[in-house]
Amino acid sequence: MAGALSRVALLGATGSIGGSALDVIARHPGRFVVDALSAHARVDELLALCRRFRPRLAAVADPAHYPALRDGLAAAGLPTTAMAGPEALEAIAADPGNDTVIAAIVGAAGVASTLAAARAGKRLLLANKESVVLAGELLMAEVARHGARLVPIDSEHNAIFQCLPADGGRGGVRRLLLTASGGPFRGWSRERLASVSPEQACAHPNWSMGRKISVDSASLMNKGLEVIEAHHLFGLPGERIEVVVHPQSTIHSLVDYVDGSMLAQLGQPDMRTTLAVGLAWPDRIEAGVAPLDLVALSRLDFERPDTGAFPCLRLAYEALAAGGSLPAVLNAANEVAVSAFLQRQLAFLGIPALIERTMERLPALPSATLADRLAADAEARRVAEALLASGAVWGAA
Ligand code: NAD
Ligand code: MG
Repeated sequence: MAGALSRVALLGATGSIGGSALDVIARHPGRFVVDALSAHARVDELLALCRRFRPRLAAVADPAHYPALRDGLAAAGLPTTAMAGPEALEAIAADPGNDTVIAAIVGAAGVASTLAAARAGKRLLLANKESVVLAGELLMAEVARHGARLVPIDSEHNAIFQCLPADGGRGGVRRLLLTASGGPFRGWSRERLASVSPEQACAHPNWSMGRKISVDSASLMNKGLEVIEAHHLFGLPGERIEVVVHPQSTIHSLVDYVDGSMLAQLGQPDMRTTLAVGLAWPDRIEAGVAPLDLVALSRLDFERPDTGAFPCLRLAYEALAAGGSLPAVLNAANEVAVSAFLQRQLAFLGIPALIERTMERLPALPSATLADRLAADAEARRVAEALLASGAVWGAA
């Protein structure tokens, strides 16, 4: 019911999306209550959020931090129950004490809690794109079976969500166009890309985000993951999902209809807009985001993506076309590669090389059960780590 009090569980509360979500929630105290918060290991930050939002539940994914969380909550005199471990995240997502789950964990680590929220029929604000890449068929089946209300939080998919027919139909849709900023290295040659640092890769021109997605944006793997995400969320094949580089990040994505209409959603590059859409849809609520000044903006530019210099986008299309477990393999190898790059154990161009080698070694298995997809994820991590250790891929930074 529009305007009813909504109880929100925020998984990944200490991250970039988590902070934006809490900013929007805090603007509407009569409309949202924070029921649960989770973090991976940053207990002090989580405790500070608990003091401010006084949730019923708080969890650390890493159980080693449980005593610090429990004692910190007690010392602050809070009624919050401390929880720990990956099972705690799933329990929070399934808990009937909240009706809305914001899936803002980074990486495949978010898949179990995302699925649990879908199974519990929650309103699911989905930022954790890796879980869609890993287990999209399963997630969409659970959403349909249990009547969950999924709102994509990725800005591109949130834009498409807003531009598609409200009845959920796809009639007259010719294709989806995902916009890409091109990241900090747009227009760079492979030669120049060979020596870029993690600091350069994380300095995104338009968006302020966590380090993993920042590297993904720089390599264009973020757009590749988003193509696969769009395929699952909107049910269109890869051939009808196109990527266009748009450096201003003002148009967040578009839907192209057979009659020649193109519907676009425009806005500031600020995730509070997408989170406000997710929290209140179909209502519109204030998000703290200034309107666009079109005259000041004056122009919008578009380019084709350069898949020669940025092969990750091509690899993602190939994984989607191969189907089955291959997108899970792509995602897992990418997580290993990005982590190695951030630790200076792999060069930037080693990211696509490591992913491609890993994909070559693993077949596409058709089963979509969670166990099978997690097995493919684990196997891909093992193969990618072994390739990394062997130095077969450009190893030293
Ligand atoms: P972040 O690194 O800033 O935050 C990640 C959060 O996940 C933190 O709260 C962290 O404690 C938690 N976390 C990390 N590892 C975990 C684990 N193993 N188990 C449980 N919790 C864990 O990341 P972010 O930028 O906020 O991105 C979160 C998700 O949203 C990602 O999937 C990202 O692709 C997606 N996304 C982010 C943005 C953005 O603007 N930041 C935009 C679109 C989509
Ligand atoms: Mg995005």
